[in-house]
Amino acid sequence: CGIFAYIGDRQAAALLIAALKRLEYRGYDSAGIGIHGGETGKPLKVRKKVGKVQNLDDDCANAGDSISGTLGIAHTRWATHGKPSDVNSHPHTTADKSIAVVHNGVVENYQTLKKQLSNKGYKFVSETDTELLAHLVRDIRNDMPEATWPQVVATALQHVEGAWGVAFLFEDEPDLMIGARKGSPLILGVGNGEYMLASDASAIVEHTKDVVYLREGELVEVHRSGYKVQEIQQIVHSLKESLSPRSA
Ligand code: GLU
Repeated sequence: CGIFAYIGDRQAAALLIAALKRLEYRGYDSAGIGIHGGETGKPLKVRKKVGKVQNLDDDCANAGDSISGTLGIAHTRWATHGKPSDVNSHPHTTADKSIAVVHNGVVENYQTLKKQLSNKGYKFVSETDTELLAHLVRDIRNDMPEATWPQVVATALQHVEGAWGVAFLFEDEPDLMIGARKGSPLILGVGNGEYMLASDASAIVEHTKDVVYLREGELVEVHRSGYKVQEIQQIVHSLKESLSPRSA
């Protein structure tokens, strides 16, 4: 339903929760945040709660310093697959919390993809269509250890039918968030040494008036020093070219 993500030098948790409150008017049944603590080799920090954003806010207040960090993703969920519950709330992660994702929309071919991933040994803890995105990206990462995260995510998303606006975090990258969209909106806010992703401009306007509307099928990689927008198809195409030996 609603997505917000932040990278910069301010503490993310409070900004994420304030943004989720701005997105409340759209309607939702649960809310959550995922934060990168700044160090690699540590699981991403996830807090998620069914009910009002205020429940999440209270939960985060109890979490204190354990959710410090200046990079994070956030979501208000309107359940389409799986009942509203803490477990079904976003972000969804791999079992080791090395990859976290928030998702707006519906994965149409989720049963096929879920079955393929289950057969490979991935354990699902939620009933959502979204969770498979984390496992799918992990699986492709394992197959392509040399590829960059934008290449891995683009390759994964090519398999995903339906409508999605997504934002990803990676444990091994304290200076990267990735957003992408097809059929659901996603906007990049360009601030002063900081960037935001949002499904809706209302969550960005208080931070910056400088916004980039991602087009259908585009992926953006965002670092504190800048961002790069590319077509998902183009990323995958270039990757294939670089992998296939050139014939004389
Ligand atoms: N289909 C996803 C779910 O049910 C995302 C729903 C949404 O857009 O909030 O968890």
